[in-house]
Amino acid sequence: MIPYGRQSVTEEDIDAVVDVLRSDFLTQGPIIPKFEYAIASRFQVAHGVATNSATSALHLACMALGLEPGDSLWTTPISFVASSNCGLYCGATIDFVDIDPITYNLSVDSLSEKLSVAKKKNCLPKIVVPVHMAGQSCDMDAIYDLSKKYGFHIIEDASHALGGTYKGKPVGSCQYSDITVFSFHPVKIITTGEGGMALTNDVRLAEKMRLMRSHGITRDPSNMTKAPHGAWYYQQITLGYNYRMTDIQAALGISQLKRLPEVIGVRTELAMRYDKYLSGLSLDTPRQLLKSESAWHLYIVRLKIRDDRTSHRRVFDFLRDSGIGVNLHYIPIYLQPHYQAMGFTPGLCPEAEAYYGEAISLPIFPGLSTKDQDKVVECLGAALK
Ligand SMILES: *Cc1c(COP(=O)(O)O)cnc(C)c1O
Repeated sequence: MIPYGRQSVTEEDIDAVVDVLRSDFLTQGPIIPKFEYAIASRFQVAHGVATNSATSALHLACMALGLEPGDSLWTTPISFVASSNCGLYCGATIDFVDIDPITYNLSVDSLSEKLSVAKKKNCLPKIVVPVHMAGQSCDMDAIYDLSKKYGFHIIEDASHALGGTYKGKPVGSCQYSDITVFSFHPVKIITTGEGGMALTNDVRLAEKMRLMRSHGITRDPSNMTKAPHGAWYYQQITLGYNYRMTDIQAALGISQLKRLPEVIGVRTELAMRYDKYLSGLSLDTPRQLLKSESAWHLYIVRLKIRDDRTSHRRVFDFLRDSGIGVNLHYIPIYLQPHYQAMGFTPGLCPEAEAYYGEAISLPIFPGLSTKDQDKVVECLGAALK
């Protein structure tokens, strides 16, 4: 089976990990701050807080921005469940903004309309989480303007978009957001096995996230309620979690980050080849906004067979049966049983549901050979005949 995504791990990556295994620290050593610094400097942001997953980083981000029961968080339904679960962890109310049918990102028009209604009802969101779907940035300029008008915070879920740009600046610079989150899961652009990072230009948010990442414990006397009893002393000043990354993971991350330009280059080339060879078929290939460059985490095609309700499923199964590990990103989050049980009903976001009936993610990753890619194109052509 040709997978839809796969990590690439080099001998150099392996050596970097082995070096940590032979060192004094497997966790809480010197490599984590090094990785945080490497990411922050590369993406032109002041602070990086490494975590054991992007899910943890999203939770930390929500807590740092003070999300509580009674508040609400809005995001897109076309994302991984973690983009909204982070709000549930804080006891907040969740709502979903429909997608743009062209980019599959959260629609700025729908957001704007929903905000104007919410303002009248006095139930504006505290946080909006735009997700840079497939690696292409949301229209952050417009979302930022809305955040100023309506007074909400922005957490960018950039799990797909590490290495992408928006208006010439790297995604992650937090120019249009309070916090940006990356994922280092093996299917993502670079990996640490499991892992994530929250980026911010606000030192207070970074400090809060560091505190909550490690049980709510501080060793900084200036944050304590009284003078330390001695050199051993620490205080737990709030209830936090163990969301730390290990040095083993950070070493892999530093090594992987060095190859980022190469990795994005290969993904872009694969995407351009798909664009070229799929152009005659009855489907939409991904469309890019001129003001952004995608990191090409996913290559999603949308079938144009609206008269036959079963053909999406048939094309998908045909590809899987041909040894192509296509996937579907994503099932609208609110259609999940956990969300249905909270009262969400089908029909909430018509564009997202239409997308769900037509989208297929094709294999795209640095190790995908031209021959395998040709096979994907060929099988898709055969399936659509
Ligand atoms: C992968 C992913 C996450 C979760 O990342 P983990 O590191 O696995 O916790 C969150 N949001 C999106 C959009 C993702 O693709």
